[in-house]
Amino acid sequence: MPSDVLVVGGGVGGLVVARRLALEGVSVTLFEQADALGGQVARQRIAGIQLDAAAESFATRGGSVAALLEELGLAGDIVTPNPAPAWLQRSDGSAVPLPAAGLLGIPGEPLADDVVRVIGREAAERAARDADLPASTGTDASSLGELVRARMGDAVVDGLVGPIVRGVHSVSADAVPLERAHPRLRAEILERGSLAAAVRALRAAAPAGSQVAGIRGGMFRLVDALAADCRRLGVGIELGARVEEWDANGVVVGGRRREGVVVRAGGTRGGASRRVTLVTLVADAPGWDAAPRGTGLLVAPDAPGVDARALTHLTAKWEWVAEALPGRHAVRLSYDGVPDDAVATATRDAGILLGSPLRELHEATRHTWERVTPRLVDGVVAGGDAPADMLAAGDALADDVLADDVVAVGETVSGTGLASVVPHAERIAREITGA
Ligand SMILES: Cc1cc2nc3c(=O)[nH]c(=O)nc-3n(C[C@H](O)[C@H](O)[C@H](O)COP(=O)(O)OP(=O)(O)OC[C@H]3O[C@@H](n4cnc5c(N)ncnc54)[C@H](O)[C@@H]3O)c2cc1C
Repeated sequence: MPSDVLVVGGGVGGLVVARRLALEGVSVTLFEQADALGGQVARQRIAGIQLDAAAESFATRGGSVAALLEELGLAGDIVTPNPAPAWLQRSDGSAVPLPAAGLLGIPGEPLADDVVRVIGREAAERAARDADLPASTGTDASSLGELVRARMGDAVVDGLVGPIVRGVHSVSADAVPLERAHPRLRAEILERGSLAAAVRALRAAAPAGSQVAGIRGGMFRLVDALAADCRRLGVGIELGARVEEWDANGVVVGGRRREGVVVRAGGTRGGASRRVTLVTLVADAPGWDAAPRGTGLLVAPDAPGVDARALTHLTAKWEWVAEALPGRHAVRLSYDGVPDDAVATATRDAGILLGSPLRELHEATRHTWERVTPRLVDGVVAGGDAPADMLAAGDALADDVLADDVVAVGETVSGTGLASVVPHAERIAREITGA
């Protein structure tokens, strides 16, 4: 077991690995280049309250985030979102609730009313013919889009799977390798005989209950609790400390070399990235009181007049946000890149997407995040940068995988989302200590 570990980066990955190592008696120093810990789990102040500025929920699969929250004394503050369905803004400008029984937008019941409402009767009947096809049809497809087109027809991809995959991960369904979309999809089709049956089986295998949860008061409370526990355990935390160079046995910070076993928990080498902008609006908007689009919408790429990729109606989704902003609405819109005049664009988009304009804008914030380029990896998760509970999707992982021999944690190696980052960092800490 090493005596000194140096952690590069103080996001959730770095904090989790630092805390676990310190609990095992290792001396740990953590370097964070920013002035605050948390990375992509960050707070913002708006309209007199604190809200998350990026991640606002976690996928419940695996139970690792909930277990960590329990250890940190936050189990009583875990909350589930309003179960109302999310909606889809379609390319013809209309909005429809997303079908309930799907996986990555693939319907488990192609003839269900909520599917017919989205793609129409004729397309739903075509999709249902999936059940009559030989089990092997489409299973040699290289992409998710190709598979679904072969088994259920183009309308399911164009009207459901495509907008959902793009809305959450900014990639086209035809760009998602089949084996990455879901690790067991192909095998389940061959075993169950159809794509719809495979979707039903995979959904049934997922644990009951909400697929996502949050923390009353904001996900950033996880960072506060991790940081407090790290400090209690004696972890040295250096803020404003950019690690200029590192190798397996040491780092250079402020021109000075420090020796120790290095864990990289931030700082990619070379991997491609893209920018995502979140605009949060707090407004009076009586037309939104009835939560006309449930907890929010995903937006089809060619939806007219709207630049946003997704909208989350925060005050409809989280009871604690509604309680904190009585009589007001909070919505959050995601954009690829940085929109021109972001607040005006978001104000316009929110009015279109929620079916009526806001009456008065009280406050708006804008945050642009650098994301690792998504590459879908195995696993049923939520946790892209769009409303996380809108589907069960393949998770995203950076192209950047280490070209050096430094131990790494965090989303660039575990896949994005807290449900990937947390258990991976816990596992790496155990491997380091041999526990
Ligand atoms: C807009 C948005 C919404 C999201 N929504 C969700 C969601 O709802 N649910 C969910 O589960 N996930 C969500 N995610 C993803 C989730 O937030 C991330 O996967 C997770 O927080 C990544 O943690 P990390 O520790 O790996 O990386 P980061 O949070 O990026 O932390 C890395 C840290 O390392 C620091 N660092 C980098 N280089 C150096 C260096 N050289 N020296 C010192 N410090 C360095 C950085 O400053 C940063 O603080 C969202 C992300 C974004 C951007």
